[in-house]
Amino acid sequence: MANKKKKRVKLHVKKGDLVQVIAGKDKGKRGRIKKVFPSEMRVIVEKVNMVKKHQRPTDKYPQGGIIEKEASIHVSNVMIVCENCGRPVRTRKKILPDGTKVRVCVRCGEILDRT
Ligand SMILES: [Zn+2]
Repeated sequence: MANKKKKRVKLHVKKGDLVQVIAGKDKGKRGRIKKVFPSEMRVIVEKVNMVKKHQRPTDKYPQGGIIEKEASIHVSNVMIVCENCGRPVRTRKKILPDGTKVRVCVRCGEILDRT
């Protein structure tokens, strides 16, 4: 019996990436990824998909009331922005001479992983 290969969910984006929203009510907005949920294929992008939430008074929010918070969006609704090209781009994988895998911009070849 062959070993069952574990299906690993791999997203094309990760925390800290600058992305642009390409669909939905926040289409065109840009922000950095704050959090990724690989199993759900969703991400939280700063200042994108803000929703109002009723907040009970807590230590953090002594007043309670309504706060605005980012809600997650599906990963297919965002594209990585190449800061060199200044626009959303597709990425491809590249292996550096030292063996590190990085993502590069298909347009200009800029390395998009911040190390
Ligand atoms: Zn580029």
